[in-house]
Amino acid sequence: MSLEHEINKRRTFAIISHPDAGKTTLTEKLLYFGEVIRSTGTVKGKKSGKFAASDWMEIEKKRGISVTSSVMSFPYHDFHVNILDTPGHEDFSEDTYRTLTAVDSVVMIIDSTKGVEPQTIKLFKVCRLRGIPIFTFINKLDREGREPLELLSEIEDVLGIESYPLNWPIGMGKRFLGIYDRYNETVVRFKGNEEEEVIPLKDIDQDEISTHPVYLDTKGELELLDEAGNEFSTERVRKGELTPVFFGSALSNFGVQTFFDTFLQFAVPPQPRKTDQGLIAPESEAFSGYIFKIQANMNPAHRDRIAFLRVCSGKFERGMSVHLSRTGKVIKLNQTQTFMAKDRETVDEAYPGDIIGVYDPNIYQIGDTLIEGKENYQYDELPQFPPEQFRKVQVKNVMKAKSFKKGIEQLVQEGAIQLFRQDLTDTIILGAVGQLQFEVFEYRMKAEYNVELEFISLGERIPRWIKNEKFEKRFFDSRSMLVRDRFDAYAVLFENEFTYRYFKENQKEIELVDLLEEN
Ligand code: GDP
Repeated sequence: MSLEHEINKRRTFAIISHPDAGKTTLTEKLLYFGEVIRSTGTVKGKKSGKFAASDWMEIEKKRGISVTSSVMSFPYHDFHVNILDTPGHEDFSEDTYRTLTAVDSVVMIIDSTKGVEPQTIKLFKVCRLRGIPIFTFINKLDREGREPLELLSEIEDVLGIESYPLNWPIGMGKRFLGIYDRYNETVVRFKGNEEEEVIPLKDIDQDEISTHPVYLDTKGELELLDEAGNEFSTERVRKGELTPVFFGSALSNFGVQTFFDTFLQFAVPPQPRKTDQGLIAPESEAFSGYIFKIQANMNPAHRDRIAFLRVCSGKFERGMSVHLSRTGKVIKLNQTQTFMAKDRETVDEAYPGDIIGVYDPNIYQIGDTLIEGKENYQYDELPQFPPEQFRKVQVKNVMKAKSFKKGIEQLVQEGAIQLFRQDLTDTIILGAVGQLQFEVFEYRMKAEYNVELEFISLGERIPRWIKNEKFEKRFFDSRSMLVRDRFDAYAVLFENEFTYRYFKENQKEIELVDLLEEN
């Protein structure tokens, strides 16, 4: 198989959603289509309704298969599918954001009963910045949800992306008859019990559904869409400017397969990626990739870690020698893991779009580039994401101050957490995207550096960076706290939206930027 052929087969994507929209349920269906699992429905009965990263481990245990917690990889029809899990719920952290830099497209699930929810907006913004294609699956059509037209306009208004429904629901909840598949020119009848019946549009007049009042309503809506809706454009989908929208029910396994098949057609294979030396095409002969996530072994007896590497160009072969762009160090990649959901555990080869796990004897940092051959370059540095929660931190026992300093330096460099110092007092403030980051930080400081910490919560804050080189410091106080980040750049931590707005109105000469939008 040629390199080009392997690349064109690859579809690497993440599923983003607000908790409970149906990500686990949908992912499970996709794994089922990929014959990774033999039946579905094991996780949905979980009482708490909450699923963490360990869900896949659970599935793995129950089904006796090898699905790792973060990457699910399987062949499907002519494609090679890589699904990257974006940890949500209490596991929400910078890792969640960074994972989105390693995918080529994104599926956004929206709960039809709730519409666009906060966590979806946050994740969506990151995807939007990268200009990657976004596909929308509106879920839970078997329940009474919001009007489809209303949902579309919410997506357009709140997220600022144009939408194009490739299918349209015929009723919902108790009156849910099925979907009108505009793309495949069929009507798919909902029969419950994971059953569906496909009726080609050309035969629809002979079917009783064609005279059903709910179907007639649907046709009215479709006429409206045809006239007033957006034009479909593959190019705009690929640029992330237009999102194809699908309706269905993950739980009833309705509309999921047609969604998946169509999605795979339109989703892009790996594209050229930016480096400090220009674009590198996936077809480039030399293997290259970058590390987007490092997972420490939480077992203190084993200090080893796994670095998650996204292959960006060339072919990876186990045992090959590469160099670490940052330091020039040459490394032989022997201990590598695959995330193939079939039996293999070590990976012998991988192609652009694939994710491999590289054993990390403490030499890698998040964002590191690995390259085969003489050329040297760095994949675009991963953006820092603005933290949302802040805590002052100090060491419990002052005798441990030295280990405290060392531990913080190391963990901050690793990207586990963000470091700030309060201006003047130099008090250390840690910033995180999610709660879990503090917990992991605390745990690792204890386990790896034997340091116990004391935290004072500053709660959720809105960080904004100051662009001015010179400014007066007398306007700041505890509600708009002046801090410096780890690169000594000044930032302000605002107590809430109100203090932020008040400050902006009254201190017009201070120019504030939102890190996320600047990147
Ligand atoms: P996640 O938090 O996004 O992973 O959401 P889950 O997949 O765990 O789903 C959350 C809840 O919604 C579970 O109780 C699911 O059974 C339920 N759910 C998921 N998809 C559907 C659907 O299509 N219809 C209905 N009625 N419930 C669904």
